[in-house]
This record gives sequence, structure tokens and C-alpha cells, in this order.
Amino acid sequence: MKSRHLVWFRNDLRIGDHDALYAACQRIEHSSINSSKTEVMAVAVITPKQWMLQDESKSRVQFWLANLNALKEALASLNIPLKIILTEANGELPQALLNLAITYHVTDLFFNDETPEYEQKRDAQVQQVFEAQGIGCRRFESDLVLPAGTVLNQQGLPYRVFTPFSKAWRAQFTRYGRAPLASPKPLKAQNCEGIQSDEIPSHINYGITTGADWHAQLWPAGAEHAHQQLQQYIEQRFANYPQLRDFPAQSATSSLSPYLSVGVLTTRQCIAAAQAYSDDPDWFYSQWITELIWREFYRHLLVLFPELSRWQPFKPDVEDRALWHYDSDKFEAWCQGETGFDIVDAGMKQLLETGWMHNRVRMITASFLTKLLRQDWRLGARFFMRHLIDGDFASNLGGWQWSASVGADAAPYFRIFNPMRQTDRFDPKGDYIKQWINSGTRLSSSLPATNTDLLGDPMPENISLRPKPIIDYQTERKHS
Ligand code: FAD
Repeated sequence: MKSRHLVWFRNDLRIGDHDALYAACQRIEHSSINSSKTEVMAVAVITPKQWMLQDESKSRVQFWLANLNALKEALASLNIPLKIILTEANGELPQALLNLAITYHVTDLFFNDETPEYEQKRDAQVQQVFEAQGIGCRRFESDLVLPAGTVLNQQGLPYRVFTPFSKAWRAQFTRYGRAPLASPKPLKAQNCEGIQSDEIPSHINYGITTGADWHAQLWPAGAEHAHQQLQQYIEQRFANYPQLRDFPAQSATSSLSPYLSVGVLTTRQCIAAAQAYSDDPDWFYSQWITELIWREFYRHLLVLFPELSRWQPFKPDVEDRALWHYDSDKFEAWCQGETGFDIVDAGMKQLLETGWMHNRVRMITASFLTKLLRQDWRLGARFFMRHLIDGDFASNLGGWQWSASVGADAAPYFRIFNPMRQTDRFDPKGDYIKQWINSGTRLSSSLPATNTDLLGDPMPENISLRPKPIIDYQTERKHS
């Protein structure tokens, strides 16, 4: 009778640089047991109710499913079938996974670890259920470049501030970092008789349909596209990233975050591409690599400070001083991009329309909500997660806590982004604002003085007015 290694795919929808898949395939190649008797198969679990509970956006779910389809094809090229399990939430998941494992005589389950506490608890339950049945669980670190807990200060404690973390991270990477793993070789001996890959459902109970959608034009599914975009970015835009990255009207950043979020691409692969395609001898010390280290920083924090996953602030003493207002009208105006502050509204419109927002504008909109409207950062963070195609619990939480000044190495509490000054500096011609605020609307008077030409000529009758600013900046600034 054949036995099988089962690889469980989650937010790691790729075959290259995938430690769990690589190990499962290697184990068969190097096994002393007759390899024709052991096969590798794969599984992914669709959990719509869980996604809802965790604020997964429709666009991200749709992107995840499209990439799951691409993964299925990539696995087929290795002769590995992909099974799909449909359950509601994490509560039913361990048993559903175990049923599949029993049906296919699985001896070992392989998967890559994830950092949020919720996912860690789910995995611990799966491990318990599997081990109780005598099935081994082999867990790997594939998401993080350097495992959490390995970048510590001289006292052996976690860094609480980014710059020393990034220095230590770079030093550690220079010593212990490795190249990305290659894709496994096709498993020739295996024909997985009788096991067909499952269809990825075209309709799931999440208000979405898989198939063509316009996100696909911006982020076509599959590792091939992700790697093409990565190479193009390094060759064409990496060199000017430090000068241009803060200007939202420029396409100066990589826009790779959706691929990183569902794990079609890894941080290690991004680092390898910078090394391979950049002309800069100092590429490793570049600003872009620093941004990737921010991603690592927030993940390390999540593992080392589990209370963060429970929406607690990194700096509770600062949060104690903040008096959140819970004003639903103001919050709703912010959500819809109707605050009357053009850079804020343009950002929110970009988010609502595309599922993505430029980093500078994420900081401006988050600062506006928490510091000027004085709304709880958790509301904003959840709204972002429900709309972002690149929604990522660690980076989103980190970004929101940073903006609300309650996070690790956060902006000092008195630092409040002035939307008008930010526009002056980073969108001086109003190109970004014009792109996202309907051209049939008249821009509001919250534009900085240098941009009053955007207000244009006297308004024709049929053009709608932009909302008046919902707060007086100077008054709110004084209160914060
Ligand atoms: P690039 O500038 O090309 O950077 C390359 C990669 O580095 C990004 O794809 C991302 O993976 C990582 N990165 C860059 N900046 C950061 C950062 N500040 N923190 C962590 N990682 C970073 N990023 C997400 O991926 N998902 C989120 O849900 C998310 N929510 C955010 C919420 C707020 C309030 C803020 C201020 C930032 C948030 N970020 C989030 C970080 C950042 O805005 C995005 O990663 C970035 O805009 C993605 O664009 P890019 O791929 O062009 O980035």
C-alpha cells in the first residue's frame, strides 16, 4: 500500500523557496524506503467563515484563489496532486484535514509556520490531532528570512526599536543568510495513481466569483508574473527608489506586496533578485532592503510579543493617554473618502477602488484617523484589512500602531501628519489627488496654498461639490 507525505499550503502559494515542499520531496528522493511506495500530495483549505472573522478582504481572497489555481498547475508539473478541503472555520479544520490524511494513508504532514497567534494556535491543534493518530508533523520556517528569536540584543532580549534591529538583522544575514531554495525536481517515480487534483471552486460563500477580474490586470496570478515584476522593478526602478518612493503619483515602489502577502514571492527571493539584477554594489544596504527588513521586524515582534496578535498596543502607556472618540459619522466619512481633505480622500478612494494604497498615503490616512479624528486605531486597521489586496496582519498592525504612536519605534505622539503640508511635499502638482478624486468633482479648500490652481474656474452647475473639511485642522491639532 502506498503511503504519502502531505504538504499543506496556506499563505505560501509557491513551489520555489518553499521549505516544507522541498523537504517532503527531498525525503522521498533520499529515502531508504522504496520511494515508489511513498508519494507527495498537497492540500489547501478554504475557510470562508474564518476569513470573515479575520477581516480578509474580498480582493485578497480572490487573489489567493487565483494564485491557488496557478499553484495547482505548478504542482502538476511536479506530478503532485492538490486536494481542496472546504470547511467553515478553524474549529472544524483539524478534523477535516485529518480525515483527508487518513483516507490517503498520510504518514507525515509538512507545513511552513505562520507568525500571528491565531494561526499558531490552529497549527498547534492540528499537530495535536495528527500526532494522536501517529502522523508526524514537520514544521518549517519559510516566511521569515531569519527565525524570530534569533535577532536579539546583547542582553539576549528582543529589539524594541527598528534601526538597531535592522543592523543586527543585516549582520546576521551576512553570516547565516542563505539563497532561496530552488523548486523541487519533478517526482518522476510518482504517478499518484487514482489521486486527481481537485477543482478550485469557482463560487465560494464570500461574495466573490473566481475568474477574470480587473485586479488580475494589475497583479496577474502566479509566480511567473510575480518574478517578472520583481526583475523589472529591480532593473528599472530600484536605483531611484530612495528619491521617489514617497511620491504617490509616481510608480516608484515595487507594488509587490500582494504577491508577498499570499506567499507567491518570498523576502529571500526579493533579496536574491536585488543582488542579481541591481548594478548597485551597495544594494544590500539600500532603502528597499530596509523596507523588507521592516516586514521582518513586525513579524519578529508578533512572535515575541504574542499580546500584539490580540490587538494590544506595544506601548500601553501611550494608549492610556489617548481618548478615542468613537464618532461613527467621522469614521464613515474617512472610510468613504469624504473628509474634505483631498490627500486623505484620494488615498481612501484608491483603497476602495484598487485594494491597494501607496505607503506614504497609508501613513497620512492612518495619522489623520487616529490623531485628528481621534478614532481608535483598531477601527482603521480592521477597515484596511477588509479592503487591502495585500492585507497582512503583521505589517498592517505594525503600520497602524506606528501611526497611532502606540507601536514599536512609533512616531512620537506629538508627530501629526499635516495633510496639507504632506500634499505640498509629496504631491505638489496634485497629480495623485486628481487621479483618485473624481474629475467631475471640484476639489476642496483643504488643498495647500500652493495648489489653489487645482480649484479651477467657477464651478459649472452640474459638477458636484467635494465635501467641506469635516474638522478644522488647527483646532484638532491643538487638542491632540
Ligand atoms: P515597496 O516599497 O516596494 O517595498 C517592498 C516590500 O517591503 C513591500 O511589498 C512590503 O512587503 C515590505 N514593506 C515595505 N514597507 C513596509 C512597511 N512599512 N512595513 C512592513 N513591510 C513593508 N504592508 C502590507 O504588505 N500589508 C498591509 O496590510 C500593510 N498595511 C499597512 C498599514 C499602514 C497604516 C501602513 C502605514 C503601512 C502598511 N503596510 C502594509 C506597509 C506598506 O505600506 C506596504 O507594504 C507597501 O506600501 C507596499 O507597497 P510596495 O509593494 O510597492 O512596497
